[in-house]
Amino acid sequence: MPTSYLSPKLEIRAAPEKGGFAVFCRQPLQKDEVICAWSGVVQTEAQLRLLPPEALSHTVQIDEGLFLASLGAEEEPADYINHSCNPNAGVRGQISLVAMRPILPGEEITFDYAMTDSTPFDEFPCACGAPQCRGQVRGDDWQRPELWQRYEGYFSAYLQARIHQHRKNHV
Ligand SMILES: [Zn+2]
Repeated sequence: MPTSYLSPKLEIRAAPEKGGFAVFCRQPLQKDEVICAWSGVVQTEAQLRLLPPEALSHTVQIDEGLFLASLGAEEEPADYINHSCNPNAGVRGQISLVAMRPILPGEEITFDYAMTDSTPFDEFPCACGAPQCRGQVRGDDWQRPELWQRYEGYFSAYLQARIHQHRKNHV
């Protein structure tokens, strides 16, 4: 039994060019409708360092120094959502993804890892194809002011708090 949640309006498709799978919209989604909720085992940074590289790509940072890792035998449907530098989904809270705008059938569901990550555990060259593609996904991408504007309200709660602090200090 999977322990994560993926909206029944979505479907998982093979996407070999993306190194595995991707999640696509089957029925229209409204802005701020729930897309998925991640699940897993809560890990500290020290515990995360001991995981095999394969497991590292199935983790999401949920707070300062805390991560959710999918360590079960089964693949979790919510782990199939890919990164894009021009995403249509964003974080609400720390484990839910919601639509940032209306999403139509046929569109791939993506979010920007800058919305959740602030550590270098899951960095990779990006080939998402968006005009604003950063070319490389890095753990400190959340610090980019242009993203603060584009993803306002859609960063993971701990990052949204950091950004508010940053802004207060630099007014
Ligand atoms: Zn990209």
